[in-house]
Amino acid sequence: MFKSSLQRHARVGNLARRQLSSLAPRQLLSRPLAAVSCRTLSQVQPQLPSFRQVAIRLYSQEATAHHNADGDSPAGIYDVTRFEDLAKLGVNERIIRAITQDMKYDTMTDVQSMTINPALKGVDLVAQAKTGTGKTLGFLIPLFQRILQAEPSLAQPSARRHATTEDIRGIIMSPTRELAEQIGVEAQKLAEHTGIVIQTAVGGTRKREALWKMRREGCHVLVATPGRLQDILTDPDSGVKAPKVQCVVLDEADRMLDVGFADDIRNLIDLLPPIREVDRQTLLFSATIPRDVVHLAKSMVKTDNFEFVQTISPDETPTHERVPQHLVQVNGYENWYPTVMEIADRAQQRAREDPDALPFKAILFFSNTSTVAFTNRVLRGTSLASRAGGPGIYDIHSKLTQAQRTRNADAFRAAKTGILVSSDVTARGMDFPNVSHVIQVGLPPDRDQYIHRVGRTGRAGKSGEGWLILAKEEIQEARNRLPGLPIKPNKDLVAPQHVVGSGDPPAQVAKFFEEVSRAYQKLPKQPFRDTYNSFLGSKMGRYLLPEDVINLLNQWCMNGMGWDQQPAISSKAAYNRGLANIPGVRIGHDEPDEDEFGGSYGSGGFGGRSGGFGGRSGGFGGRSGGFGGRSGGSGGRSGGFGQGSRSGGFGQGSRSGGFGQGSRSGGFGGGGRGGGGGRGGGGFGQSRDSYGSRNGSRNSSF
Ligand code: ADP
Ligand code: MG
Repeated sequence: MFKSSLQRHARVGNLARRQLSSLAPRQLLSRPLAAVSCRTLSQVQPQLPSFRQVAIRLYSQEATAHHNADGDSPAGIYDVTRFEDLAKLGVNERIIRAITQDMKYDTMTDVQSMTINPALKGVDLVAQAKTGTGKTLGFLIPLFQRILQAEPSLAQPSARRHATTEDIRGIIMSPTRELAEQIGVEAQKLAEHTGIVIQTAVGGTRKREALWKMRREGCHVLVATPGRLQDILTDPDSGVKAPKVQCVVLDEADRMLDVGFADDIRNLIDLLPPIREVDRQTLLFSATIPRDVVHLAKSMVKTDNFEFVQTISPDETPTHERVPQHLVQVNGYENWYPTVMEIADRAQQRAREDPDALPFKAILFFSNTSTVAFTNRVLRGTSLASRAGGPGIYDIHSKLTQAQRTRNADAFRAAKTGILVSSDVTARGMDFPNVSHVIQVGLPPDRDQYIHRVGRTGRAGKSGEGWLILAKEEIQEARNRLPGLPIKPNKDLVAPQHVVGSGDPPAQVAKFFEEVSRAYQKLPKQPFRDTYNSFLGSKMGRYLLPEDVINLLNQWCMNGMGWDQQPAISSKAAYNRGLANIPGVRIGHDEPDEDEFGGSYGSGGFGGRSGGFGGRSGGFGGRSGGFGGRSGGSGGRSGGFGQGSRSGGFGQGSRSGGFGQGSRSGGFGGGGRGGGGGRGGGGFGQSRDSYGSRNGSRNSSF
């Protein structure tokens, strides 16, 4: 039974594929379709009984019933694979025109052909399909069509004149502001020839201005982040009401139902008219649907009238298999930026030689905001930013104003080549065209986030590559967090392997190390201190020990950047994070940079530094010290005195400053990771599991 149902899916998939392949660019087609119903899903994943009882119409059955054995005269859902043919399903010609004439799309993607039809009929949907497969249009088209069905006068552009703020019919929620804005833009395009008015409301922008615009123009479809939506709907003076709301969409639904947002979403739903009074459709779309949000997803939809559409077959990982994914093992964090520069350099060279290769356009992901801000400043000091024709450097993270975030996102979107240094605010849903590389630096928070990040490349049939840069201490934890993914070790690069301080870097990458080293010296100290602290505050995991992290950070700071001693952390923070007894932790307080207050970053930044650096030349011992971590201790953290003893050679031969080589006399050796205090406190999260992941291949390939 189980087997035959899978075979049936495979057959439907093949038929559909054959049919699509005559129309669609080859790359757009994903692997065999699996219109997995709730029932089949629970057969495939017996551990998910919550879906089992739900009675639904089986897509696959419907489709097979209409196919004859040779696949001729297909009907059912698969007879609509071209946008033009949506007319047969009653979709308004003005909507179709926007797609086929303005956006110039002809053939639907799998998820579109599988969701649009049922959604048009008004059933609730939970849809899972890979990143970059056009889910946005998958929910916008039925949303718009159903609005026109309920209010045909809105088909005419002139209807905009009569729109009010009490006329909201569709609400689309997104976890990030950038994604809400992106969906707003796509919705706007789709609404072009109709009278449907779209508004976007996100945090960080002036609420009063947004409300004023809404009052002036009215609103039929509101795209929003949950916080701002709540704000607007609960503000008695806003005048925004949704008594007629007929559809709620959660994009990146698993994130919206995740702990961080679930309560907000529930509160928001409570602000809408009860479904028994005003019938409402709920559409949940995502590339990943982890097990722990399934019951929440189920609580959001009508149990007697919903469908689960999955275009990821149960035996494949949800990441796009076309995107090659490389793992680069670096000797230490001080190798990160030279490694990124080497990847960029090779890609640029390839783009020059091979006309088919995409120009280098990369997103560089870090898991915390401070590291993004720091990296942005470092890379701006290198030839990546300054070389004529070189890629520009853009950054997005939560410490920027929303106006800056939007500006940077737009600039990167328009850029032919460039590097977006980003926190996870762009990991989900963002559709930057032609991203050639997604480079994840350090441990990704979990498997799903890794997948979403990689999904920023290889979109809509384009090529792309994923890179993951990890220190060897992080590899085991990465295997634990990222099971069953097609990640392959890559040993081609030179920069990752260089042991900073052990002599000159290999000639072909020397310039990268030198540039990065020079860039460090232009910076005040605070940005790195913030980075240091964020790392210590982040989730470590079962296999990454705090002393490893401390050691990697100290090595970066002292060997890579030439500091006398590592940043201090407050005794309270050390205690709270269980780091108080870990070797290499320096408890105390650093004086802030003077120049940080002067406001002249970048070019300035000298005051603080010269102080720091003067100290340095004198303080050689100090430098090798702090190395602590590994060696189990010997107290000297405050003075930063060398418990050195790592593989010798602290000298920074490679540093432009040329401070003596190997000067590290002494060091106390003492080897081995000193016992240090056990792994402290919080944040030892477990990686989660997604529906699409395949049980059989849980082992990682790296
Ligand atoms: P997802 O939400 O699945 O990650 P998006 O909705 O962001 O994907 O779409 C990815 C890209 O593909 C967008 O640039 C979108 O405009 C484009 N796209 C959507 N549908 C089609 C289609 N049928 N044919 C070609 N491109 C499409
Ligand atoms: Mg999306």
